[in-house]
Amino acid sequence: MTYKTDKSKELFQQAQRCLVGGISSSFHKAPWNDYPIYMDHGEGARVFDVDGNSYIDYLNAFGPNILGYVHPALTEAVEKQLKKATLMAAPNADLVKLANKLVDIIPCADKVSAFMSSGSEANMHAIRVARAYTGKKKIVKIEGCYHGSMDEEKVSCDAEKLEALGSREHPNKIKHIKGQKDPDDIIIAMFNDLDNIEHIFKTQGDDIACMILETIMANADPIYPKPGFLEGLRKLCDEYKVVLIFDEVITGFRLGLQGAQGCFGVTPDLATFGKAIGGGYPISCVVGREEVVTAATVASGTFAANALCVAAALATIETCQQPDFYENLERMSKKMIDGIEEICAKHGVKVNTKAIGGMWTMILGTDEELTDYRDHYSKVDSKLYTRLVQGCMERGIRLNPWRGRNYMCAQSTDDDIDYTLRVIDEVMAAAVVEK
Ligand code: PLP
Repeated sequence: MTYKTDKSKELFQQAQRCLVGGISSSFHKAPWNDYPIYMDHGEGARVFDVDGNSYIDYLNAFGPNILGYVHPALTEAVEKQLKKATLMAAPNADLVKLANKLVDIIPCADKVSAFMSSGSEANMHAIRVARAYTGKKKIVKIEGCYHGSMDEEKVSCDAEKLEALGSREHPNKIKHIKGQKDPDDIIIAMFNDLDNIEHIFKTQGDDIACMILETIMANADPIYPKPGFLEGLRKLCDEYKVVLIFDEVITGFRLGLQGAQGCFGVTPDLATFGKAIGGGYPISCVVGREEVVTAATVASGTFAANALCVAAALATIETCQQPDFYENLERMSKKMIDGIEEICAKHGVKVNTKAIGGMWTMILGTDEELTDYRDHYSKVDSKLYTRLVQGCMERGIRLNPWRGRNYMCAQSTDDDIDYTLRVIDEVMAAAVVEK
């Protein structure tokens, strides 16, 4: 059957008349298409578009859908709450249960600071807490890490060219959106480079409130921390009285119950959670060490901690707590990357793969470990990855179109993976020839 997207094209034409750019998020459009694919519904591990095409989905909404689509436990909890109320401008009993659960599960969580709706808000609030606690104002941010869409978070996370980044010693602070304010209080540091960070702390430590990072730079290729890097950061932050913030918006409830801090055994002062914590419903939070997290208590939001999202988060976490939940996700992630390694070897493509919990990653064009964001430009074959993802999409497999990080969900199956690997094999053969 040929792949048709006529209805998506028609909807995009209609959208352009009423919606700026025809889309509401630039990430809703794949890099090879000038129009987005309009989705209709999801079921299990699949999504279905308006033209009737179905896709085994490994994008999983950029991470939140840890349980997949219309998961029975999640749907039942949300339906039950829907019949009671969604917004009451008051806490409910489930909120206390949810906060308690987080405090029990997450290593750094003596307390939850507040619940919000998005990862961007959670990071903004965490930075504010760090400033309140330290009385200092500057933020150290790693080049290539993404922390959200607010002005301060969206600096130096997506440069088109290596030259745009400037030197390692004096990196540019790259703005990404028109109207974004100058990132005066932000200092850009290099991932996996403790000497670089120590130099920054030594020379400007008196002004630095916090160091925020993705422990795995999932928004850049992804790139993994070298052994000792996170431990070294912990020590430096203690020494220079800088609040260490782990942005666990991607890694939280995705790598394992305790997130990246559990996997790597390093405990930050504050951590932010979003995406998978709500299983597809918009809820996020900041948690942390008592002394730090209590420094600023005011966080407000009309939709913050609404009963529907709280019910969704509780049902999601309770499902994730079932025996072997993450073991099974990791087994499937591992099966996928083992298959991809074999396929790449067969077609003479260098690849670097990893699988942790429900996240599996592939970087094409290199079998080396990437150290930092700058490695991307010299080592990664993004064009080959894009060709692979496009070919897979046209054959009913939906991968992350932007970066090589992909997600299993609780409803992924071994049969889906076997089928996916057969498709990847076919598409890779064609993509390599095109090169
Ligand atoms: N932090 C990380 C690591 C993210 O990947 C994202 C979004 O992709 C955010 C924060 C922002 O979260 P949200 O899109 O929910 O505002």
